[in-house]
Amino acid sequence: MTVDPVALTAELLRQDTVNPPGREARCLDPLAERLAAAGFRVENVALTPERPNLIARIGPDDRPALAFTGHVDVVPLGEAPWTVDPFAGVIRDGRIYGRGASDMKSGVAAIVAAALAFARDPAPGVAVELALTSGEEVGLEGAKRLAQSGRLGPAGALVVAEPTGLVPCIGYRSVLWLDLVFQGRTAHASNPEVGDNALLKACRAAVALSSWDFDGARHPLLEPPSLNCARLHSGLNYNSVPDRAVLGVDLRLLPDQAFAEVEARVAELTGAHEVIRRHEVRAVWTDPDHPWLKEVARLLAERFGQDGALRTVPYCTDASALLDGYGDIPVLILGPGEAAQAHRTDEWCLVDNIRTASEIYLALMRGWRAS
Ligand SMILES: [Zn+2]
Repeated sequence: MTVDPVALTAELLRQDTVNPPGREARCLDPLAERLAAAGFRVENVALTPERPNLIARIGPDDRPALAFTGHVDVVPLGEAPWTVDPFAGVIRDGRIYGRGASDMKSGVAAIVAAALAFARDPAPGVAVELALTSGEEVGLEGAKRLAQSGRLGPAGALVVAEPTGLVPCIGYRSVLWLDLVFQGRTAHASNPEVGDNALLKACRAAVALSSWDFDGARHPLLEPPSLNCARLHSGLNYNSVPDRAVLGVDLRLLPDQAFAEVEARVAELTGAHEVIRRHEVRAVWTDPDHPWLKEVARLLAERFGQDGALRTVPYCTDASALLDGYGDIPVLILGPGEAAQAHRTDEWCLVDNIRTASEIYLALMRGWRAS
């Protein structure tokens, strides 16, 4: 059984899986049936009946598989009107249009098409595993559920089909959201000098943090760490000195910057009374000298006309959650979509890239030998 990855992309785009609420079963249930019919052992670790997460495996259970992942939920359409139907899978001038065309129904279709082709003529001893998720766009929910389920793997490497325009990428920075709590002493607004203004402390902290250089932390390939002061809550009324303020910051950190150490440093720099961790996504980084990545780069150069360079992506992916289940295996992020098209009005993907991605995935499956 084989399927055209472009036709499959169109099929997935015709299903509205805007998250929230998701309803990813519209895409994943038919894919589960197809994969099972082709010989994959398919397990569903669902968030809810309408929100499945699939683990589909073929080949030996006791050998590390080459794993592939993609999500089928998409972000809302946004306020601006679309000039094409976002749920029709329209193909025009070499592009396929629709919400999720780049991020990332094309990637999922390319994975599944390659997997079905592999199942027709599997390489002996090679295990392939697909982890297809719901709920990526809101907190990597599905991937977290899969990682916690204990049902993943074993796997020796993970391919993430998020949009990279077919460029091989090997990492991204972590995400850390912190609330910094400042305390003071309230007083009547007519005598502010009697009080201790927590809001002013939070403002001074924001100014101090905005010029912090992370003590010089840098990385050879990834962007430098960054910090955005995003939220400020303080004050009950106009005529009191506020005795509490909460400053919310978003940090993007390098793989070796431990969250606890950064939190301690932020507390030290700002004098915050308390630092509360609101959200965290671990960084992903694979050594470019890893033998499998070198093999991938060689394959891409020899058979797919690429320069063989390995790059990074600005966004995070389900890999951050899945590695909690798979362990610290090498990660390759490579997909047919365009990163710049993600979440855009009139989102599209190059049709040719979808076919090429599927060919690349099939070549990776056939060439996989877990050592
Ligand atoms: Zn995505």
